[in-house]
Amino acid sequence: MKDRSSSPPARVAVIGGGPAGLMAAEALSAGGATVDLYDAMPSVGRKLLIAGKGGLNLTHSEPAAMFRSRYGSRQDQLTPLLDAFGPAALREWARGLGVETFVGSSGRVFPTDMKAAPLLRAWLQRLRGAGVVFHVRHRWCGWTRSSTGSTRLDYATPDGEQQREAAAVVLALGGGSWPKLGSDGRWCALLEQAGIPVAPLRPANCGFDVGWSPYLSERFAGAAIKPVVASLVDSAGVQHRRQGEFVLTASGLEGSLIYALSAVLRDEIASRGSATLHLDLLPGHDLARVVSELARPRGARSLSSHLQSRLQLKGAKVALLHECVAASNFAHPESLGAAIKSLPVRLIAARPLDEAISSAGGVCFEALDERLMLRQLPGVFCAGEMLDWEAPTGGYLLSACLASGRAAGLGVLAWLNDQYSSADTPTDSSHGRQS
Ligand SMILES: Cc1cc2nc3c(=O)[nH]c(=O)nc-3n(C[C@H](O)[C@H](O)[C@H](O)COP(=O)(O)OP(=O)(O)OC[C@H]3O[C@@H](n4cnc5c(N)ncnc54)[C@H](O)[C@@H]3O)c2cc1C
Repeated sequence: MKDRSSSPPARVAVIGGGPAGLMAAEALSAGGATVDLYDAMPSVGRKLLIAGKGGLNLTHSEPAAMFRSRYGSRQDQLTPLLDAFGPAALREWARGLGVETFVGSSGRVFPTDMKAAPLLRAWLQRLRGAGVVFHVRHRWCGWTRSSTGSTRLDYATPDGEQQREAAAVVLALGGGSWPKLGSDGRWCALLEQAGIPVAPLRPANCGFDVGWSPYLSERFAGAAIKPVVASLVDSAGVQHRRQGEFVLTASGLEGSLIYALSAVLRDEIASRGSATLHLDLLPGHDLARVVSELARPRGARSLSSHLQSRLQLKGAKVALLHECVAASNFAHPESLGAAIKSLPVRLIAARPLDEAISSAGGVCFEALDERLMLRQLPGVFCAGEMLDWEAPTGGYLLSACLASGRAAGLGVLAWLNDQYSSADTPTDSSHGRQS
């Protein structure tokens, strides 16, 4: 911010203490603002900590064009933010917190110890040292906008409702998945009441229901299917095809391969009522080889032992085969081979948002300017998963949350500068209390 020696630094509220809000607070305090960070939960960064449980995938090391393409239809909006704070900058930032990173065999980037807790601990310590004041158990529940552009924010706290003034606000309230960690999507109604377009929150990186027989559900829930290639052709005729692994659940499928295809599967189910995935259970064998192995005489051996000895096909893969193909297909090597190489599995529903890794939907980019400020509410900025973008797992989620948090923090600083250097009073954007 410009030097305004006669006036105290602007007081900025950051609401939401996930990676996006913490990064906004960091940019703001580094730029000279006084930052109050509010969070509804008793502590901040809960989803970040959970993300660290399975190995914190901070970002990805693939070439920039490929990296950007992971944000699909929103890559144009996110590219400037990611150009300003991309994977290399993110790794350097982590190093600044004493957290070294490494590139895994898949190109994904992790902290050396795979954990989130040391990074979060060091980050919070640095933020507190920089003067950021944390107010936990403060649920933002409404606001009154003054004619001077400042905002009076209403918080539900253990001591009752409290009001605080802020010269500018960063909302970093997260999406709607895993609501017990704090991001419950209840903010959508508050913004919609203020006339802000919000795309409905939907599950992303989620599992799907198939509706297994009791046999498969009871005997094979939790079993991994790997390696496998999953493919589908969407309504636009585009083929999606990936190799990886997934897990059978009591009602369907989940896991990295399914998450990677989840956006198209979810949208296909929404528009057509179901989506059919074709699974190649033996990606290392071509169809001719599978058929010729199946056609070999099996003597007195059962079909199960024949499948196991000739093709190493057993357990959950064979159970899946029995579940999804008619018994008549097992009689002929050609039809059984075709089923093994392209097993149709009909998905009927995405699992609910609260079980998903992340959310699609949120504040529409059209409502934001290039600084991530809401055009209709000058002085109010948005960042993180609450914006309307989605991406697969692979470090892309945290990358965009951190980049957008930083952009929003810098955006506030630039906006405040404009306000102070302008002789005019700020735009009157008075809105009623919306709690
Ligand atoms: C199991 C799991 C594993 C994951 N693993 C990875 C991974 O390895 N790599 C990766 O890139 N991503 C991962 N993610 C996704 C990643 O954690 C999220 O995308 C990221 O945390 C979103 O950051 P955010 O700051 O936008 O929101 P959040 O982290 O959700 O933070 C939002 C904050 O806002 C607060 N809040 C909400 N409403 C209010 C309110 N009204 N008033 C006050 N405070 C409020 C919440 O309490 C919360 O602290 C994972 C997610 C899950 C669930």
